[in-house]
Amino acid sequence: MTEPELTHTEEKSEPKERVAHAFRNLRELVDYVAGKSLPPLTPEDGVLTESLPFPFLAIVGQQEMKLALLLGLINPNVGGILLIGPRGTAKTTAVRSLLDLLPEVERSTCFYGCLPEDIESSGITTVCPDCAKKYGEGQPLTAPDKVRLIELPLNAKLEDVVGGIDERSAAHERMRIRRGILAQADRNLLYIDEINLLGDDIVDSILDAAAQGSYSVRRGSIAATYRSRFVLIGSMNPEEGRLRPQILDRFGLRVIVRGLEEAEERLEAYRRVQAYLANPRQMTGQFSAEMEAAADEIRNAREQVGKVVLPDEIANPAIELVQRMGIDSLRAEITWFESARAYAAADARKEVTIEDLKAVAPMALRLRRSPFMSEYLKGQLGEEKELSSLLGSFGEKPSRNRQTKRTKRLTKKT
Ligand SMILES: [Zn+2]
Repeated sequence: MTEPELTHTEEKSEPKERVAHAFRNLRELVDYVAGKSLPPLTPEDGVLTESLPFPFLAIVGQQEMKLALLLGLINPNVGGILLIGPRGTAKTTAVRSLLDLLPEVERSTCFYGCLPEDIESSGITTVCPDCAKKYGEGQPLTAPDKVRLIELPLNAKLEDVVGGIDERSAAHERMRIRRGILAQADRNLLYIDEINLLGDDIVDSILDAAAQGSYSVRRGSIAATYRSRFVLIGSMNPEEGRLRPQILDRFGLRVIVRGLEEAEERLEAYRRVQAYLANPRQMTGQFSAEMEAAADEIRNAREQVGKVVLPDEIANPAIELVQRMGIDSLRAEITWFESARAYAAADARKEVTIEDLKAVAPMALRLRRSPFMSEYLKGQLGEEKELSSLLGSFGEKPSRNRQTKRTKRLTKKT
């Protein structure tokens, strides 16, 4: 697709007129719908709102949060998204509203999550007997399925997260371990609300699994390895406790979510929430055409993002900028470049421009500097100088036949 000419015709209830609006790309669509005015709704009872999430495109304002979440859907390599802000700023609403925009992936059809990749990397015994048989017969172990949103409960225990032994189950190794939330999150979105309140052991296991794309569970003699290729979305309210700096660095994009500033925007946000609560079906219906168009755009961008190139003449000054900011973590440029590629793909382009990098830079680079590390490294410089001056004269005057206590001990051992 070279020129995405998405033309939508929407209906306004009164007066009965049709308004056409052309969207050049996904971002224009998002901005347009955020400002769209709604006709009045009639109240209706008895609709389960869980089955009808608040439409993502109906969220007023919060452009950066919406952009970050879309970039995460387009390119899982952005490395997760952290939403930082006070309560009541639509963080959880925005994440849950992604449901209708989620693309499809190939997923294991087996209860134990067996995948052909497992067999290819670690052999046929790593999958359950049923799947081993299927694989041998050339039958597929996966089927296309929609990406899901998995929410981690705040009271989750480490065993729920990584999985544990199922005492009652059969003898096959894989079947003796209950899949944890991390394995269920494979190729899905994993959302952790209030991540700053979660125990350190749980956060560490989640971040490790997310970084490696797989993890192993070992209980006594039983072990199993699971894929955990998920997009991690965390949210936190800094008033309720800080997040360890090393965790902050593990998130690709960080969005500062603030309350809406304009009175007009706040009123519109209120009207939409009120309309949604009064009649969720009618309200979501008013955004369904745009939501479908956005889902199509995301699907196309996902297919294209692997082909988007980042020219060296843009990448080099970008890396210089990261260094000038005093950021040590390599994750800064990885996230920056991957999100810029997603941004270009969302615009149906095959090459990253300076403008793309500028658009996503704040999300990728903010909150990455570590005052502790720069102080620490400064102090370390003295030691480095001392070490290099010692090494400069090292070996000049060899001391023959004089074993020190230390070398005696070392030679004794071997
Ligand atoms: Zn299986």
